[in-house]
Amino acid sequence: MPMPPLPPSFLSRMQQLLGDEYAAFLASYDQPPDVGLRVNTSKLSRREFQTISPFDLKPIPWSEAGFVVPPEARPGKHPYHAAGLYYLQDPSAMAVAELLSPQPGERVLDIAAAPGGKSTHISALMGGEGLLVANDLHPRRAQVLAKNLERWGARNAVVLNETPARLADHFGACFDRVVVDAPCSGEGMFRKDPEARAEWMPKLVKSCALRQDVLLEDAATLVRPGGVLVYATCTFAPEEDEGAIARFLLAHPRFELVEPPRFPGFSPGRPDWIAEPGRADLRRAVRLWPHKAPGEGHFIALLRRSRASSEMPEAPAPLLPIPLEPEPRQYFQQYCTDALNWRPPESRLSQMGFHLYQIPEACPDLRGLKVILWGWWLGALKKNRFEPSHALGMGLRAEDVRNTLPLTLDDPEVDSYLRGEVLSSSGADGWVLVTVDGHPLGWGKRVQGRLKTHLPRWLRQF
Ligand code: SAM
Repeated sequence: MPMPPLPPSFLSRMQQLLGDEYAAFLASYDQPPDVGLRVNTSKLSRREFQTISPFDLKPIPWSEAGFVVPPEARPGKHPYHAAGLYYLQDPSAMAVAELLSPQPGERVLDIAAAPGGKSTHISALMGGEGLLVANDLHPRRAQVLAKNLERWGARNAVVLNETPARLADHFGACFDRVVVDAPCSGEGMFRKDPEARAEWMPKLVKSCALRQDVLLEDAATLVRPGGVLVYATCTFAPEEDEGAIARFLLAHPRFELVEPPRFPGFSPGRPDWIAEPGRADLRRAVRLWPHKAPGEGHFIALLRRSRASSEMPEAPAPLLPIPLEPEPRQYFQQYCTDALNWRPPESRLSQMGFHLYQIPEACPDLRGLKVILWGWWLGALKKNRFEPSHALGMGLRAEDVRNTLPLTLDDPEVDSYLRGEVLSSSGADGWVLVTVDGHPLGWGKRVQGRLKTHLPRWLRQF
């Protein structure tokens, strides 16, 4: 789709709001969008990535793991992308999980999570420990979310396809941190997305604002006393940004806006841009502007629920693992003995129909919800064997696996493997983890010196 012109009523509103800054804001649309890359710190450190990076990396002030790369780099086509070593994400969007600041061992909910930018970031910041519930309302988008978490090697994530209202009813106030990356009018997408420009109209801003009020209402129910709620949009419309938070705070006196760390490029919220009076605290929100900081632009508000002890909710009923039936147990044990130097903890191993999972720590009961992933998917039970999943390979380290095919970036077999071709490989028959520079790419099955790829079709590069 060719890029339509910027909507005139959007431009006149921005001119009125920004005054002297408007010219710089408008000029930012003549620049190409920034390409952001965020390193998967649960697989390798920032420094390790810097030493192997094939791209020039320009640091992003608010994220240790984040860099801007040159637009011609095409990092989405690189084998390191298939290996889950990084996620491509708008630089301003990286500020959301940084301000959420999830800690290992906590319970965290990403209520509108697809395709997974914030969820992959959250999972890495948690070091794979604790529970991340990643939810999206739209079934197909929830599937994409699950795949991105799989490629990322997330070991602590559950993926749901639910309405926020059902999540609120089901879980109650059990999350340490909740992030609402709200569906919005998408003005921050205008530089790179022609559809965002074409679909925009003043009525859209109003309908998004209404939807955001409902979403925030449900999200608030899910935050434990003393817990954190982060609200974010990729739009500049004050009604959906400061306006949404002003309406929320009026209805929820138990929440307050918290002053976040101020990184270079962070601008304050603008209480003077909304109709609701007397909310000077809205300056504590963060605005990221395309003419002042890397990225397309974001609004972020960090809120905390007060810790009134009288309202401490009961701990939720836990998700109890379903013990393995005798035959599947035998197949899985055989596979572990033959192929791995690693075992999942018995207390978290669960059989869900024909699939085995490692369920996350402290996971509340999920029965009754639309569950796409019950945790770390380990593999499938076939007629008389266990077959490892791509998610298992991506969540393991090379040293956890007995047989690997260690390739380096300049080996032509890397591309052949990613295209789904058969490789020649000597050694015992059985499951082999193909790695690139020591990082898992996916499984292959070796039979008499020929290694047949088990890379899922959606990851193959033709
Ligand atoms: N957090 C995502 C990321 O970083 O990749 C981007 C989220 S996008 C801004 C908003 C998402 O909200 C969309 O995936 C959309 O399907 C979902 N959505 C729309 N309405 C929703 C609702 N009422 N409840 C939950 N999710 C919703």
